[in-house]
Amino acid sequence: MGLRFQQLKKLWLLYLFLLFFAFFMFALSINLYVSSIQGYDPEAVHPKPQPHRRSLWHPRNIVAHYIGKGDIFGNMTADDYNINLFKPIDGEGAEGRPVVVPARESFRMQRFFRLNSFNILASDRIPLNRTLKDYRIGECRDKKYVITEMPTTTVIIVFHNEAWSVLLRTITSVINRSPRKLLKEIILVDDASDRTYLKKQLEAYIKVLTVPTLLLRIQKRGGLVPARLLGAEHAKGDVLTFLDAHCECTRGWLEPLLHRVKESRTSVVAPVIDIISDDNFSYTKTFENHWGAFNWQLSFRWFGTKRRTALRSADPTQPIASPAMAGGLFAIDKHYFFEVGAYDKEMRIWGGENVEMSFRIWQCGGHVEICPCSHVGHVFRSTTPYTFPGGMSEVLGNNLARAAMTWMDDWQYFILLYTSGLSLETRSRIDVSERLSLREKLKCKPFSWYLENIWPEHFFPAPDRFFGKITWLDGQTESAQTYTAHMRNLPGNRLTRDWSRVINEIDSNAEKFMATIDLDRDKCLRPMEKDVPRNSLQSVTVGDCNVHTKSMDMFVITPKGQIMTNDNVCLTYSEPRLGIIQQLKSRNITTNVQLTQCLDDPRQLWIYDMDTQHLSHRESKLCLTLKAAKMPRTQKKEKIVVAINCDSKDITQKWGLIPLPWRV
Ligand code: UDP
Ligand code: MN
Repeated sequence: MGLRFQQLKKLWLLYLFLLFFAFFMFALSINLYVSSIQGYDPEAVHPKPQPHRRSLWHPRNIVAHYIGKGDIFGNMTADDYNINLFKPIDGEGAEGRPVVVPARESFRMQRFFRLNSFNILASDRIPLNRTLKDYRIGECRDKKYVITEMPTTTVIIVFHNEAWSVLLRTITSVINRSPRKLLKEIILVDDASDRTYLKKQLEAYIKVLTVPTLLLRIQKRGGLVPARLLGAEHAKGDVLTFLDAHCECTRGWLEPLLHRVKESRTSVVAPVIDIISDDNFSYTKTFENHWGAFNWQLSFRWFGTKRRTALRSADPTQPIASPAMAGGLFAIDKHYFFEVGAYDKEMRIWGGENVEMSFRIWQCGGHVEICPCSHVGHVFRSTTPYTFPGGMSEVLGNNLARAAMTWMDDWQYFILLYTSGLSLETRSRIDVSERLSLREKLKCKPFSWYLENIWPEHFFPAPDRFFGKITWLDGQTESAQTYTAHMRNLPGNRLTRDWSRVINEIDSNAEKFMATIDLDRDKCLRPMEKDVPRNSLQSVTVGDCNVHTKSMDMFVITPKGQIMTNDNVCLTYSEPRLGIIQQLKSRNITTNVQLTQCLDDPRQLWIYDMDTQHLSHRESKLCLTLKAAKMPRTQKKEKIVVAINCDSKDITQKWGLIPLPWRV
């Protein structure tokens, strides 16, 4: 009986194997057949750049995101690129509702997703003039504007291979939701698109529009900067309003922007940018009080924390000062745009221009603002659909380096040192002398002024801050002993807990400490997970100090005692709901120390004692301690950092501050 069973099992395995083999051969032959009749691989013409993420709106998975190269049905043909299947259905997407693409279309939906990095099948079902809600707060709706006294605007939309229905819905929403008197014209700038429907078909379409619409073409792909510059040169309106080619303007979007530019000529004003889903094209209102800045690699980020420097008064209709702008959607006085240096015309394709412009506007006397009364939707994508001639990281790196070298003074070295793809060497191949003379001509302020006054809550290094690694002094390694001996022998222990004194001590011995660290043996404080999802709680552990790839094992410590890392993340003590000690005993640990978004909060203030090398939470007086604990999910024993009562003999509570260079 046992034997029979064994034989049967073997037979089954054989059948299964044969079945798979047959299927494999079938798939292979179809694949060969398809590629033989196509004889054309559009992937070669349109190589897909590495995915990137520009904004942090939705750290969620994109459904229907088809990736795959040259497999059975995956190849896209020239027809796929050029086909325009816009077929609006009455009422689809009305009031900003999501579109449900019928199940029978789901294969095509997935296949076509990557053409634009959004679900074109959903967009193609929505009429160009779909209705949207009024997303403004009551106070904004009540505002009255005297149209006859307001400046006119030219709306400039640049595009490269934009989808038909998406581009036309952008244009339609501009026309339908702007007072005709204020809208001088629309200028479309085609940045060397090759899709056929963007040629004659688009030219014919814009002829019949009720607003004069100019279509300019760039023959050789240059990117959004050259395209916007060309549009600006042709503009006849008083104000330039830039929009991406995949937007939808909502009711009352234009008046508050133009009103603000008139009121304050040097204000560059962005609307509140709402989210149009890349998956189902639903319209979601976002927060009015968000503002923008950037991380250690100069990637734009949104922030929701209350601002100390808020320009905002009790009046919720007033603009909010923002250290940086997202870049795609904003209004600016036309003459001011050119006076303040337009754009750095050496910036190519995509990226960096928004940070450059933000620095320039602020440092040269202007303001970057978000107008809470103006709502415009934008399709946020998680990957770039188009090619990056010259390579994405090279092009983007070049643009960012230009921004840093022109505006960031000492901080440029920080960017060059800690952005992958850039280095101090980069400086020798980039010439920003023309932009530096502009900076001189305009008598612009230094970057330190910008950080202190425009973004005081920033998480960058500064002369009065510590920047470097936090090592765990296990008492064993030579480096730990050298470090401890140095700290112990300092005269005047009275002041050993004052951050300015600590930072100063470390700064004046920077070289000694840097030489002390043994990268191969020492352990450094870092988040538990390697890929730190933004806006999420992270527990903390220690790991190899020589892993520099993720910047979140480097810390900035302010004179107040905030321990910050990249992306506005701070070391935070959270009072445990259950007694932490008991939990540790039962090995079912939930830690009371986490990395979370920086707030102006006593839970994020720490003290360093040079004498004991304790790092303790200021209010609770509990010490950072390295413990081994079983993780609830994996049941694996791992090191985790917690805050418990201080004990000067406990070597699991000793921490070293090792500086890293950030300027030269
Ligand atoms: N764009 C362009 N040429 C390029 C890259 C982008 O004209 O080489 C246009 C693009 O079509 C869009 C705008 O610039 O209208 C901003 O680009 P994108 O929307 O990709 O940037 P994101 O909004 O994702 O930051
Ligand atoms: Mn965009």
